[in-house]
Formats: sequence, structure tokens, C-alpha cells
Amino acid sequence: MQFAVGDIVQMKKAHPCGCNEWEILREGMDFRIKCTKCGHMVMLPRVKFEKNVKKILSHDPEKARQALEEDF
Ligand SMILES: [Zn+2]
Repeated sequence: MQFAVGDIVQMKKAHPCGCNEWEILREGMDFRIKCTKCGHMVMLPRVKFEKNVKKILSHDPEKARQALEEDF
């Protein structure tokens, strides 16, 4: 699976707030994701993130492009 900043992903385990949809804020060796319901942010290693992702719900090309530009 390919992930990009701005993607909304569905996780296998739901957040305590009841939501299991997260937005990717940063990707790389570590991923930073934000709960789309309560706004809680967590940082987790790529391996752990990939293990917990069920599927990508939506992709935002504009956000992904902006994130790439910030890297260079
Ligand atoms: Zn939450």
C-alpha cells in the first residue's frame, strides 16, 4: 500500500473516542496521524502503522503535492 500526506485511512482498532478514521499528517520512518473525530495526534513507527491500517478511504492529491514540495 502506498501512503501519502492527506490520506484518510481506516485503522483496524478504533480510537477510544469511537472513530477509526485517521488523517496522515506526516509520513516516513515514522508516521504522524490525527484522529478525524477528536483531533488527537499520535506518532508511530511505519511498521506499526502499516500493520494497523485496514484501508485507505480517501486521497488528497493537493495535500500530497504540498507535502512533497515542503520536503525539497
Ligand atoms: Zn479520536
